[in-house]
Amino acid sequence: MDLRDNPEEAAFRADARAWLEANLPCDWGTPAYQKPQSPAEEVDFLRHWQRQLYDGGWAGLDWPEAYGGRDVGIIQNMIWNEEYMRLRAPNQISMSVGTSLVGPTLIARGEEWQKERFLAPMLKGEEVWCQGFSEPNAGSDLASLRTRGTLVGDEVVVNGQKTWTSFAHQSDWCILVVRTDPESVRHRGLSFLLVDMKTPGITIRPLVEMTGHAWFNEVFFDDVRVPIRNLVGEIDKGWDIVMTTLSVERGTSAQHAKLFADLELLIEAARRTPRAGRTAADDPLVRQKIAGFAAEMMVMRMGAYRNAWALLEKGVPGPEGSTLKVFWSELDQRMKAAAIEILGPRGMVPEGDPLALDDGYWAYEALWSRAATIYAGTSEVQRNIIANRVLGLPR
Ligand SMILES: Cc1cc2nc3c(=O)[nH]c(=O)nc-3n(C[C@H](O)[C@H](O)[C@H](O)COP(=O)(O)OP(=O)(O)OC[C@H]3O[C@@H](n4cnc5c(N)ncnc54)[C@H](O)[C@@H]3O)c2cc1C
Repeated sequence: MDLRDNPEEAAFRADARAWLEANLPCDWGTPAYQKPQSPAEEVDFLRHWQRQLYDGGWAGLDWPEAYGGRDVGIIQNMIWNEEYMRLRAPNQISMSVGTSLVGPTLIARGEEWQKERFLAPMLKGEEVWCQGFSEPNAGSDLASLRTRGTLVGDEVVVNGQKTWTSFAHQSDWCILVVRTDPESVRHRGLSFLLVDMKTPGITIRPLVEMTGHAWFNEVFFDDVRVPIRNLVGEIDKGWDIVMTTLSVERGTSAQHAKLFADLELLIEAARRTPRAGRTAADDPLVRQKIAGFAAEMMVMRMGAYRNAWALLEKGVPGPEGSTLKVFWSELDQRMKAAAIEILGPRGMVPEGDPLALDDGYWAYEALWSRAATIYAGTSEVQRNIIANRVLGLPR
């Protein structure tokens, strides 16, 4: 395994870097940059940025060309993600439910009209998507979901509740899993729908997190009528489509690059933080801690490439992805907790307060990082997968 770029990859990396540097807002990453002031402004900004990515040929890199993508291959996709994270370019997370989950699902399993109708607006940032899978009593154990879908004529009438639905309040469309066969249990009798979030009967209640932001929501469905043509796959056979959605994570996540970028910020903040007549960055214990994190990030980068190569060889993501998920989410939490320790009380002051360090970035990250071991499969669930499928231990 050679972690250096070959000439073609180096040229691709240079192109990606040059495009990002030329297209990010000119004061991006500097204190002069005026952040969007409200969630609505932020979504507008992200839609606009997604359009810029699309026009520049940097949206849907791993999508087939026939659907507006570039089909660049796994390693190039990883390189783009690394450059993107390195420059701390806008977090496209609200767009990525569409481009990373819904788009690849529709490309693999959708009907032709669904691809024509939905893929381009998704890639251009014109339509934002959310994922309506989890329910109050169905998270890790998704197959126990109870939201009902009743077939009435050429419509499915939906009743029930979803929860933790990220960006539902800002979304145009939702992928929704419902139980259409009330007699069925577990994975059978479920159906996968594309739901217009403006349909009457949908009530969205934002949930405020401990960061103070309202990122995810409770979503209630009362007699919501969804045209049957919006079904993906067959009625009662939706689990198969759910599995497609959950497996499209293409193994090109470059979380190590985000952590490296955060570590650089931390070093810079430690240089500005006074400690016993010198700075926190001069403290040998702090230096050791930072060096330790850097070493772990290098290990994580190798793990990410190893995962990508395994995907290249086998064509499908393997259970190794679980190792990486546990590693980065727990490293992220440890590093953000250490940042607060290194930077002292000012590190805990939230954004908007004149005393806040880096406009409250560290306070926010220390709290937000707690979510990382829950979403996209909890650490316990990932460890079950590793025990079972990597180590071959009994269930
Ligand atoms: C920031 C964030 C964004 C999210 N966005 C979305 C979204 O957009 N759409 C969506 O559908 N969902 C979303 N989720 C929900 C997420 O998928 C669930 O929170 C996750 O699957 C865990 O489910 P749960 O919260 O119901 O916890 P539970 O499944 O009830 O788990 C509770 C605890 O029990 C443990 N546990 C459960 N099963 C086992 C087991 N078999 N063995 C050992 N331990 C176990 C878990 O690890 C956890 O510690 C989001 C979550 C977060 C935190």
